[in-house]
Amino acid sequence: MSAPDFAVCVYCGSRFGAKDTYRIAASALGTAIATEGWQLVYGAGDVGLMGETARQAQAAGGDTLGVIPTHLMALEVGKRDLTRFIVTETMHERKKVMFMNAHAIIVQPGGAGTLDEFFEVLTWKQLGLHDKPVILLNIDGFWSPLVTAIDQIIDQGFAEPSLREKFTVVESTDAAIDLLRRFRKASKE
Ligand code: AMP
Repeated sequence: MSAPDFAVCVYCGSRFGAKDTYRIAASALGTAIATEGWQLVYGAGDVGLMGETARQAQAAGGDTLGVIPTHLMALEVGKRDLTRFIVTETMHERKKVMFMNAHAIIVQPGGAGTLDEFFEVLTWKQLGLHDKPVILLNIDGFWSPLVTAIDQIIDQGFAEPSLREKFTVVESTDAAIDLLRRFRKASKE
């Protein structure tokens, strides 16, 4: 069977974090992506919010593409029952394959790895290397301090104000899905 024609790359924590709301949102996001008929692209782990998102997408009958580097197979419990499972040699290859296979990016709460992934796609966008939607899913205000830090970077002259237009902050899974629906509709017109 061919893969869906729209794929969403989800970056998120390999842990669950301190609040239940993160897990609940991750679960809802996996279900929603599958229900829309979109493909979930993610880091192929079966741990934390990553695993939660993927399990729920699978449970809703969704198509899943996971990409994991060899050395993380044990640590992040490589989830081999995905629709497609790709093992890379390096972290850089993993990020590249995930990004190349996605039409949009959603960033859920997470740690340093999630931040690394977010800033990579943000800086690529700043440099004009792509124009894919980048959505910060601000569950319970988790990313608000990050948005403040980016505003400070702009205020202090270390980035153009346009940097702030390179990503969209939404407060709920529904808002993220709605944004992508509108993006899809606009790209088809
Ligand atoms: P974390 O948010 O730290 O839980 O990590 C989320 C995901 O990002 C995990 O799959 C990590 O393996 C991945 N990750 C961690 N560090 C990096 C890095 N330097 N480059 C790319 N991905 C990373």
